[in-house]
Amino acid sequence: KLQKLASVDALTGLWNRRSMWEYIRAVEYDYEIGNAGFVSIAIADIDFFKRINDTYGHDWGDQYIRQAGRCFADYTPKDTLCARISGDEFHLLFYGYESQDEIRKVLTKLREQLHQQSIPLPDGKVLHLSISGGIAWYPEDGTQLDILKKYADFAMYQIKHSRKGALGEFDLGSYNQEAYSAQARLDLHRLIENEMLSYHFQPIVSARTGQIVAYEALMRSMLPTLKSPDTIMKLAREENCLHDIERITMFKATEAYLSLQERGLIRGTELLFVNSIASQHMTDEENQEYCRRFAAMQKQIVVEITEEEMLDPASLEVKRGTPGFPGTFALDDYGSGYSSEKNLLELSPKYIKIDLSIIRGIDTDPDKQQIVANIVAYAHPRKMLIIAEGLETPEEIHKVLELDVDLLQGFCLARPAAIPGSVHSDALDVIYDFYHLQ
Ligand code: GH3
Ligand code: MG
Repeated sequence: KLQKLASVDALTGLWNRRSMWEYIRAVEYDYEIGNAGFVSIAIADIDFFKRINDTYGHDWGDQYIRQAGRCFADYTPKDTLCARISGDEFHLLFYGYESQDEIRKVLTKLREQLHQQSIPLPDGKVLHLSISGGIAWYPEDGTQLDILKKYADFAMYQIKHSRKGALGEFDLGSYNQEAYSAQARLDLHRLIENEMLSYHFQPIVSARTGQIVAYEALMRSMLPTLKSPDTIMKLAREENCLHDIERITMFKATEAYLSLQERGLIRGTELLFVNSIASQHMTDEENQEYCRRFAAMQKQIVVEITEEEMLDPASLEVKRGTPGFPGTFALDDYGSGYSSEKNLLELSPKYIKIDLSIIRGIDTDPDKQQIVANIVAYAHPRKMLIIAEGLETPEEIHKVLELDVDLLQGFCLARPAAIPGSVHSDALDVIYDFYHLQ
């Protein structure tokens, strides 16, 4: 009698967790010798059960659990192993079937029965059973039942987050995707905690002299499993870590620039364009720390605001008002977003960087040429300077010189590097010829 008590769930009379797993081991032994045929593990969990408890009290909650348990016992074939694992969660093991479809038929019948169940309530209303479930298959999804249990649990978790009350089959693709993104999130936090970002520098060149007048600092990841800056930004947005990226970028990019200067690898008089996230700004303490460490550098900083993030006026004001900061802004990716003109008016930047989608092939596209001509005509009377970014060919350089842009950036001039090199001679030739061979 004691043994029976120890293996049965008192509320429902189903197996309990311990006895279920003893039984499963026996089944596992069976199917190892090829006796179990097709097997499926199903995990079921009552929907919104906390609310039922809260509204009607625990005794009615218990009633609900009992009814669900009775349903599992009554509407599954005799050999099915049904257990209440804890609270409102049940496990079912179907084994010895000829095919998956045979199990599916049993499950469909069970679901129909569950839907028809109702529990009369003290206030005269009736409550219908709503239960979500997930299933995994042996041998398709795996050959170890504890792994299948994990998979069934995942299938149920997905159902709980999409259409409660349904039964979901395990899908390895989504599982791997989820595991991948969970790992990527862990990687992001590790990257931020250890500040595993370094900065490469790409020259920005005067369109008149060919001299390097500035560098743009570009983020690079030091974590081999999380390399792409786009993915880092996407994850940081999802994980609310954009502020950390902003802080790390400001500090580490400036530090790296000064180190290049100290080692005599750059002149050190060039401006430094730092990518700043439009919705973020450093805290007062961070700004004070920045001023303390980099006061001499501040006048060379150009805060580059990308169009990717919504421009946040409050953050902008803080950035503008940072003590010691000359308030020089560059508007990045101009022409790629939906609100270029609005951002232009709000930011009134010193520099406008024309997006590479407009620069690409500009030498052969009159529409793109007209867009650049327009923005140059807008900028110059207002003492704003135009940067053509993403220049890849001498022809593109030649065309933007004709269009009177002020600064040039792109692979054709110099690639970004930890230690930036000089400007390619082909590009310098284009500039020289443009001014001297006319
Ligand atoms: P979901 O739809 O996502 O499943 O949410 P839920 O409200 O059903 O909550 P969840 O499954 O996470 O939690 C189950 C709740 O069941 C938690 C606990 O308050 C309650 N519970 C656990 N054991 C018992 C029990 O023996 N009797 C009663 N009445 N309630 C229980
Ligand atoms: Mg529940």
